[in-house]
Amino acid sequence: MVIMFNVGKQGVLHMKLVVLSGGTGTPKLIEGLRRILDDKEITVIVNVADNFWWNGLYVAPDVDTVLYLFANLLDTEKYWGIIGDTFNFLQQAKVYGIEMDWFNIGDKDLAVHLVRTMLLKKGYTLTQVTKYLAKRLDISAHILPATDDHIETYVLTNLGNLHIQEFLVKYRFQPEVYGITFPGLDKAKATEDVIEELKGADAILIGPSNPINSITPIIKVKGIDELLMKLRKRIPIVAVSPLISGRPVSGPADKFMKALGYEPTSYGVAKIYQGYIDAIVIDERDHFLKDRIEKELKVKVAMCDTLMKDLDSKVRLARVVIELIEAIESEGSHQV
Ligand code: GDP
Repeated sequence: MVIMFNVGKQGVLHMKLVVLSGGTGTPKLIEGLRRILDDKEITVIVNVADNFWWNGLYVAPDVDTVLYLFANLLDTEKYWGIIGDTFNFLQQAKVYGIEMDWFNIGDKDLAVHLVRTMLLKKGYTLTQVTKYLAKRLDISAHILPATDDHIETYVLTNLGNLHIQEFLVKYRFQPEVYGITFPGLDKAKATEDVIEELKGADAILIGPSNPINSITPIIKVKGIDELLMKLRKRIPIVAVSPLISGRPVSGPADKFMKALGYEPTSYGVAKIYQGYIDAIVIDERDHFLKDRIEKELKVKVAMCDTLMKDLDSKVRLARVVIELIEAIESEGSHQV
C-alpha cells in the first residue's frame, strides 16, 4: 500500500485536493484548509447554478466569493463582496429606478461583473474568464466553474416560481417551498479543465455547502456525476455536513431538503451523497445519527464540532477532514 500524502521537509502536507463548493459554508472551510495545504494544491470546482444577469451584467456569486477568498479580499462577515466595500454606485442607480435593486453590488465588486460580462461578450468561456480573473488577482489555487453552460435555479413557493436570488436575497428564504428546479442542468456538460482536475486529484471534498442548491448542480453536471462514482474506487471522497442538530448554520438547506423528501439532518445529507462519498464529517451534537448513516447508507462517519466561528475552528475542521482522508487512504477502504 502506497501512502500518497507525505509531509515535505518544511512540514507541509502534499495532497492535491479538489473541493466542490458553494458560496458560504465551503469557503469557510477553505480558509482552514489554506493553513494546511499550499494554495497551489487546492482546486475548487464552484457552483454556477445561481449565476444570473443583473441589469446587463453577468454575476457569478459563488465564483466571486471563492476568487475574493483566495485573493484575501473577501468580506468574511457576509461571505460575499469585498471587505470594506462601499455602495455608492447602487445608491445612485436606485435613483434611476434600476431593476433588482435588492441585489447588493458594491463599488469595487462592480468591476468583476463588468470585466466578466465584457469578456464573455467577446466570446471567452466562463472558465477562461475565471482563470483570467484569478491570474490578475495573483491567485495560485485553481478555481473552476462546474460548467461553462448556463444553469438556472428556480424555487417553487407560495409566492410563485422564484429565481434563487429572488428567493434568497429579496425574500430572505421566508416563503414556503414546494420544489426546486434547475433549468439547463440536464444539458450542462463538464469542462475539460474540471475533468482533468478531478482525474488528477489525490482526494475530493464535498464541502459543507447546501446539498440541494449548491452541490447537486455541480455533481449532476454531465461528466462529473459518473466520474465521481468511478473515482471513489480509487481515491478518498469525503463530505462535511452543513447541518448541525438538524438546522443549517445559515440559509435554507433544511427547507429545500424537506421539500424534496429528504430528512433534514446529516443523515439526509449523507443520503443525498450516497454513492459518491466514502465518508462524511458530521457534528458531534448529531452523534446519534452515526450508526444509521454507517449501517443503512454504508458511509463512514467522523465527528467533531463543525461550527466554524473563527479561524481556529476552521483550521480544526480542516484537520479533521485531512485526517479522515488519510485514514481512508491508508485503510484502502474506498476501494469497495
Ligand atoms: P451559498 O452559496 O451562499 O448558498 O452557500 P453554501 O451552499 O456554500 O453554504 C451554505 C451552507 O453552509 C448552509 O447550509 C450552512 O449550514 C453551511 N454552513 C455555514 N457555516 C457553517 C459552519 O460553520 N459549519 C457547518 N457545518 N456548515 C456551515
